[in-house]
Amino acid sequence: MAKLSESGPVLVSACLCGLPCRYDGSVSALPAALELVRQGRAIPVCPEQLGGLPTPRPAIELRHGRALDKEGREVTALVARGARAAADLAGLAGCRAALLKARSPTCGSGRIYDGAFSGTLIPGDGMLAGLLRAMGLELVSEEDLG
Ligand code: SF4
Repeated sequence: MAKLSESGPVLVSACLCGLPCRYDGSVSALPAALELVRQGRAIPVCPEQLGGLPTPRPAIELRHGRALDKEGREVTALVARGARAAADLAGLAGCRAALLKARSPTCGSGRIYDGAFSGTLIPGDGMLAGLLRAMGLELVSEEDLG
């Protein structure tokens, strides 16, 4: 978590910054994210909204690289477009770290749901987290902060 404490911009899942952009319209404000906002270092982004998905929206999970919502609709193109745009933003801003919401099919890093909407977690990254990891950013999950 070294780069979170260094200076410089940090891409942050917007829901951790207090924006009500979660699938159910709720917020998941995290003190560490709010502190980055206070310092003027947070770049809040909700890749699912950026890709064109509405809020609220049905829950989404990844299955074999495809993003499917709980009602069975495929939303891969929208999630992928938002993830790409958010990753581009991180690159443009020169972010070296990201603080990400856990277990999301888009922002989750290291562990995500298995795609069966059964509550089962498996190793893996959400679409944005995977792009940021490939770019070499340090990924910090909200769960890393306890
Ligand atoms: S896509 Fe990311 S930022 Fe948007 S609500 Fe889901 S976890 Fe939060």
